[in-house]
Amino acid sequence: ASLKIIKEKNPKINAFVEVFEQEALQRAKEIDAKKAAGKELGELAGVPVGIKDNLLYKGHKVTCASKMLLNHTAAYTGTVVQKLIDADAIIIGRLNMDEFAMGSTTENSVYGPTKNPIDHTRVAGGSSGGSAAAVAAGMVPLTLGSDTGGSIRQPASFCGIVGMKPTYGRVSRYGIVAFASSADQIGPLAGDVKDAALLFKVIADFDEKDSTVSSAPVPDVLASLKNTLEGVKVGIPVDFFDNLNPEIKDSFDRAKEILKSLGAELKEISLPFAKYSAPCYYMITGAEASSNLSRFDGVRYGYSTPVPANLDEVYSKTRMEGFGMEVKRRIMIGHYVLSREKYETCLVKAKEVRSLIRKNFKDAFKNVDIILTPTSPTVATKQGAAVLDQVNTYLADLYTCPGNMANLPGISVPAGNNKEGLPIGLQFYTDEFKEDVLFQAAYAYE
Ligand code: GLN
Repeated sequence: ASLKIIKEKNPKINAFVEVFEQEALQRAKEIDAKKAAGKELGELAGVPVGIKDNLLYKGHKVTCASKMLLNHTAAYTGTVVQKLIDADAIIIGRLNMDEFAMGSTTENSVYGPTKNPIDHTRVAGGSSGGSAAAVAAGMVPLTLGSDTGGSIRQPASFCGIVGMKPTYGRVSRYGIVAFASSADQIGPLAGDVKDAALLFKVIADFDEKDSTVSSAPVPDVLASLKNTLEGVKVGIPVDFFDNLNPEIKDSFDRAKEILKSLGAELKEISLPFAKYSAPCYYMITGAEASSNLSRFDGVRYGYSTPVPANLDEVYSKTRMEGFGMEVKRRIMIGHYVLSREKYETCLVKAKEVRSLIRKNFKDAFKNVDIILTPTSPTVATKQGAAVLDQVNTYLADLYTCPGNMANLPGISVPAGNNKEGLPIGLQFYTDEFKEDVLFQAAYAYE
């Protein structure tokens, strides 16, 4: 059924960039046989799952939607993908994204843009736009995305589905192509909170192959799904609401009433440094990206310029021809903030501010269990609009970047539509490693 819907809808939407059709059908047969033999089945038995094209699955292409890696095949399977296989899921294909996960619209892709299934003239969000659109269009019930500054939550909000970023260190990064190692996390996108919780449960675990993964026990998120918020304290940050778009504000105000009716106690809180999260994020992740992406040198991986005149040109032409505009811009930002002149005033400062943002959240979570924000200041924008206003596109990450700068888990849930029928997202945060409380709130609200 999934393959049929993909065939019907994908040519217009462009969420999948490759479908593993024969392999998927074969896997389905194997799982059926396992069932017929009376063997115990995994938690995702027979469920088709799409994966973002920055996750390694041995023997399959992994391109990060970049010309640089168009012909690159994964040499090993990453931990989360292995966990899907172990849970008897069917990995059905690779999903479109912004090149190297840099972007907010899935327009920075060598495969062309992903369209928003609700309105094809709009973007699906990004960078996990393919992951969000595939679920929203009903092609697959579950997908994996990655979130460095909002790339799971924002496309989920633009497409009217659920998207969750785990605590930094909750899910292994072994086998994801690195963008910014101090912020990248893999997480689930799904049609509802319960499905997202199930996929989270399958992928969250200690992993000795990633030194940043926590050995703290993973809470039972499925058991936490209850229809009440009795005794739960919800923080409303007063710092975030200057010039808020009225349609987003209306949906936010409605959400506050719903949470109260579920028994939650609302409290105003202040996170004075959170408003610097997006500038901080673009400096820190630029620096990390410029280092992580230095491995794409025309020698070790992927694309190599066909007729270099000398060794210098192997590097310079390969990178000039292989990377798209946005990736080049991030590498330039990274080199700028790492330069001798700017290191102290930009990068060191950004890291100091990052720790102040973390401290703001730590202090707030002494008084509240959950923090509520919009996911994005806008609904899905028109195709082609972001590139005309790059700075505002960066600044639109103001609600999602705080989560990555403070390492927090966050979830975006649908919170109604605007007058044109475009979805609006609502975001919950909890303190680190409290994913049970996060899913509880999202489930009760939904
Ligand atoms: N919009 C952010 C960026 O362009 C988010 C990216 C991400 O989370 N991977 O960097």
